[in-house]
Amino acid sequence: MEAAALKYDFRSDTVTRPGAAMRAAMASAEVGDDVFGDDPTIKQLEARMAETIGKEAAVFVPSGTQSNLIALMTHCERGDEYIVGQQAHCYRWEAGGAAVLGSIQPQPLENAANGTIPLAHIEAAIKPDDPHFARTRLLALENTIGGKILPSDYVQAATTLAKRHGLACHLDGARLFNAAVALGVPAATLAQPFDTVSVCLSKGLGAPVGSVLVGSKAAIARARRLRKMLGGGMRQAGILAAAGIYALEHNVERLAQDHANARALAQGLAKLPGLTVAQPDTNIVFVDIEPSIGPAFAAHLAQHGIGVVSMYGSTRQRWVTHLDVDANAVDYALSIASQLLAR
Ligand SMILES: *Cc1c(COP(=O)(O)O)cnc(C)c1O
Repeated sequence: MEAAALKYDFRSDTVTRPGAAMRAAMASAEVGDDVFGDDPTIKQLEARMAETIGKEAAVFVPSGTQSNLIALMTHCERGDEYIVGQQAHCYRWEAGGAAVLGSIQPQPLENAANGTIPLAHIEAAIKPDDPHFARTRLLALENTIGGKILPSDYVQAATTLAKRHGLACHLDGARLFNAAVALGVPAATLAQPFDTVSVCLSKGLGAPVGSVLVGSKAAIARARRLRKMLGGGMRQAGILAAAGIYALEHNVERLAQDHANARALAQGLAKLPGLTVAQPDTNIVFVDIEPSIGPAFAAHLAQHGIGVVSMYGSTRQRWVTHLDVDANAVDYALSIASQLLAR
């Protein structure tokens, strides 16, 4: 299916396109060579993100994938190990980069349905100091994970357990602002237990490119060298950072609209026969579809210009709300869905 043929694209919050005001901010950005430390707009974005997330320092990177890899390599040497969920982006969806490029051994553990990794499983997976074992150095969590918000008491307990065993803690906070806005708490509160946090600008925040990794001055100094090593040192990228600053100023509080649209979408779809829908915490809706109608339902949506991600032989769909699909898009999608199913 051609993306251009889509009337409304619910596949991901990565599909947002920069609007006129964001492009104007990009066009007028002051720039310099950031590898020489000369780009004032990147410095401004990094300072602002560090402050917002409540850490000492930050580094602007081209993607969330590179940001996570840099974080893993910041905390782990070759032959070290990190504990991570089976469903975590930085284990499952990043082409094995930690192992391939970092020589870091993943210790994946099954995620519970709410996205947590049971504490007893984490504790059992931490290796004793013994020459047979890789050194367990890091616990990586993700919030939100599959659109779900990790319970705060769980995050406290898991990071306390990790620290008790001398592990560092990394948060893949690609959608941290979704969690913060949904809970009505500062992003810094959710980031507090972690040594490093990666935040995406190019998801719900609507920037075209970029992530920011935040942490202590020492961690981010190490991260800067790794960014250069991995090819992520950019030059006059202030035009991209300007989009990120614009996003932080204009597109954080509005995530609440995406969450309201996701709830409306989930409630509407849940009324249709053949669909089972989990109520979303934030902006991601998963729909389970009776196998007999799965392929026809997917084809019907595609025919009417509605983009969704179909999984498991069209028996499951992921719908993501974002700044380019408004309440009208949700109404349209629900009317198209009920055309086929409400019989
Ligand atoms: C999208 C995403 C990333 C990676 O971001 P890219 O910029 O696409 O590389 C990392 N973690 C999570 C949870 C994500 O959703």
